[in-house]
Amino acid sequence: MNYIKNNLEEIKLNIKNGSSLSPYNEKPLLVCVSKYRRIEEIEKVIEVGVKDFGENKVKEFLMKYEVLKDSVNWHFIGHLQRNKVKDIVGKVSLIHSVDSLRLLEKIDIESKKKDIVSDILLEVNVSMEESKYGFTLEEVEEAIKEASRFKNIKVKGFMCMAPFTNDEGVIKEVFMNLRKTYEKYTTYKGIYDNICIDILSMGMSNDYELALECGSNLVRIGTSIFKGDI
Ligand SMILES: *Cc1c(COP(=O)(O)O)cnc(C)c1O
Repeated sequence: MNYIKNNLEEIKLNIKNGSSLSPYNEKPLLVCVSKYRRIEEIEKVIEVGVKDFGENKVKEFLMKYEVLKDSVNWHFIGHLQRNKVKDIVGKVSLIHSVDSLRLLEKIDIESKKKDIVSDILLEVNVSMEESKYGFTLEEVEEAIKEASRFKNIKVKGFMCMAPFTNDEGVIKEVFMNLRKTYEKYTTYKGIYDNICIDILSMGMSNDYELALECGSNLVRIGTSIFKGDI
């Protein structure tokens, strides 16, 4: 039995359904979170037509990149140390987890050295949990302003994770808050050359339908894709 194929069929239906419940008419992108998964497992997902994969550790990403190279679009979704930026810049198509101005600056410097522009998302700690990385909602304005100075970075949007709670109302409020922020900055198109907000990365296995309902247009799903596979 091909679990991955079945799981993906179900997930794609859920994605359609979730975003149809939002008023925004988004066409969500599915990023398969392949952390801890073997190359053979990733290849099964590629076979079903998924092109975007997310990794959260630099070492693990590089190992997989060596094999699969640019046959897929790589997303970096984990906390990134500044001294490792040089290892991934130019290899990943989007860094979701930019959580400080110092990291932003480092990505700019390393991108400049390679004469490229790196697409990034600002990670926002909407729920202000101690255990989470990211800018607070209040810090976003300043971060955008700072980012606009960096010529080798393009800010494409925002990423957040749901708070640790089972209370759907609380999670929904967090997602709606980031959607509001996202909408505010989509109007910056044309004001700053390198602020081109059109990605809102919210939703994982447990909460992607809710995130889509709240206007997410990129979901990062791991567990639900691989479950049942051995
Ligand atoms: C692991 C991870 C995911 C995927 O989580 P699942 O619950 O396995 O779907 C998404 N985003 C980030 C940042 C992660 O670290």
